[in-house]
Amino acid sequence: MPRPIHATIHASALRHNLERLRAAAPGARVWAIVKANAYGHGIERAWPGLRAADGFALLDLTEAERVRALGWRGPILLLEGVFAPRDLELCSRLQLWHVVHCDAQIDWLAAHKTQQPQRVFLKLNSGMNRLGFAPARLRAAHARLQALPQVDEVALMTHFSDADGPKDIAAQCDVFQRATEGLPGERSLCNSAAALRHGDDAAVRGDWIRPGIAVYGSSPDFPAHNIAHWGLQPTMTLASELIAVQNLQPGDSVGYGSTFTADRPIRIGVAACGYADGYPRHAPTGTPVLVDGIRTRTLGRISMDMLAVDLQPAPFARPGSEVTLWGVSASGAVLPIDEVAASAGTIGYELMCALAARVPVVV
Ligand SMILES: *Cc1c(COP(=O)(O)O)cnc(C)c1O
Repeated sequence: MPRPIHATIHASALRHNLERLRAAAPGARVWAIVKANAYGHGIERAWPGLRAADGFALLDLTEAERVRALGWRGPILLLEGVFAPRDLELCSRLQLWHVVHCDAQIDWLAAHKTQQPQRVFLKLNSGMNRLGFAPARLRAAHARLQALPQVDEVALMTHFSDADGPKDIAAQCDVFQRATEGLPGERSLCNSAAALRHGDDAAVRGDWIRPGIAVYGSSPDFPAHNIAHWGLQPTMTLASELIAVQNLQPGDSVGYGSTFTADRPIRIGVAACGYADGYPRHAPTGTPVLVDGIRTRTLGRISMDMLAVDLQPAPFARPGSEVTLWGVSASGAVLPIDEVAASAGTIGYELMCALAARVPVVV
């Protein structure tokens, strides 16, 4: 028998979350962000739950090829644009839309031989300071693009640095409005957090929203709001089983470094899941976990292939009992990935993207 660990991708939850985002930004079209292999879910595995999207946005040209191979004929957007001039040939062949964030990308377009003009999203740097044209240089870039026979329509976009936090988006929205005022073309501003928090504002939602993390059932602004608040459902469950049970006496410890020591007699379980499966090694004692759908906690250090759990809340648990590391248990109990991530000092994004290749995945 293989190790009992496996991940499950919930297509119906992906569909539900996508609709939830659509409802949050009424009238806007939705780019489902499938970068990083659909946030660790696997593009092909997430696909059945995401096909109601209006387009797919990603970074890697090989990922764009995979979306086309699934039979998708609609829009695909390269969020960082092309990395080298020859990438434009693939854009022509696969009909990819691409972001233009710097002058070099315009130079490459000007030199590109194509029959079919390409759709581009001109990116404004409104304060994130990763990619995009400075506000004062946007109009010149726009005029240059519009004059190129290689370019069809020019849309305008920007990306928020603080949509999930207290600083929020007002200042960057202001920069965007002023820099783009009067320019023709579609607009795209919102990631998940901005779409959920400000999608009711027509100027903010624009023509296209770009949600990623919320589609994958993680709250973009946890712990301020959890997925229940936003009406989102977990799309990935990581589940395993207990493979051993131990009875600790006061003074007994568990795991490497003996970081947890019992102060009374307790039963503990050993689950077949460790950091080599993508579970965060930095998760401390007390990280939430479900055993037979009952909420309990991890104990001691996470090993490569195993971790220990407190069985005091689950006295009937035995080897073979279900362990839910995040997601949904067989009984329907939910453990949001955000709670596990917060306990380990990270965010849901990182945990889902880190799901290890050795974990079998079912849809
Ligand atoms: C990743 C990304 C998004 C999606 O962000 P989430 O926080 O996951 O919703 C949107 N736009 C751009 C440009 C991105 O790189």
